[in-house]
Amino acid sequence: MKKITKITAVILAIVMTVFAFASCGGSGKEEESSTEGASGSSSGKVWVIASDNAFAPFEFLDSDSGKYIGIDMDIMAAIAEDQGFQYKINNIGFDAAMSAVQSNQADGVIAGATITDERKKSYDFSDGYFDAGQAIVVAADSDIKSIEDLNGKTVAAKASTAGATYAQSVADKYGFKVTILEDSPTMYQGVMQGQYAACFEDEPVARYSIVSQKLSLKVIGDTINPAQYGFAVKKGQNTDLLNMFNAGLADIKANGKYDEILAKYGYNTTSDSESSTVA
Ligand code: GLN
Repeated sequence: MKKITKITAVILAIVMTVFAFASCGGSGKEEESSTEGASGSSSGKVWVIASDNAFAPFEFLDSDSGKYIGIDMDIMAAIAEDQGFQYKINNIGFDAAMSAVQSNQADGVIAGATITDERKKSYDFSDGYFDAGQAIVVAADSDIKSIEDLNGKTVAAKASTAGATYAQSVADKYGFKVTILEDSPTMYQGVMQGQYAACFEDEPVARYSIVSQKLSLKVIGDTINPAQYGFAVKKGQNTDLLNMFNAGLADIKANGKYDEILAKYGYNTTSDSESSTVA
């Protein structure tokens, strides 16, 4: 009797261990990347980096591999390799990624995040790594030609983004309503289906998505608030990580890796500006 109980306990322990290991496996949404450079990371620390989940060409799901790819993903990998640190990326969406840094659930965020004075109050940004402003995106067959034509209409913008901040800041002036959505694909669908007259999106992302996904959308008007994208950490925290990002960014700019990454996604770089060959 005693023996049977012991055997049962052993079997139970084995089963529980197997389950515990199984549940550690990838959820499909999380991408684990570990890179150990020549200098190695003796601390064994794995930095947690949060990112957007549908923001091509910076981070987007590659349906063939089931992995997140894009300029931000490649830049992070190249910098980690150069600086010899380990990290794990959680592609949880922009709003969630920015919040994750503030609530210490992530050490840093790389998500095509625009460096703004407002954000500098709660985040420390790396050096800029890409120039981008926002733009108005409308249905391909829309008559809307400028922001003035949005009078009396409803537009979409993505939660916590620079596009949303801008749209809300001029909504009264131009007489439109703003609906906040969680992600870029939902905005694009809503505009194509006529639910929203327009959406505010980062211009390179809108142009890349329109071409690569053959979306019935077009970009109108001038670029809004051009600024740089930066990697960010919570203000006053993870300074080591921020310093490694900056050092690695300088290295990959100097050794050609940065240009190679941008070229892979259709951008030809000149000394200090990017020009798209995509759209
Ligand atoms: N660049 C924009 C911002 O920082 C949008 C970023 C995003 O949607 N991933 O607000």
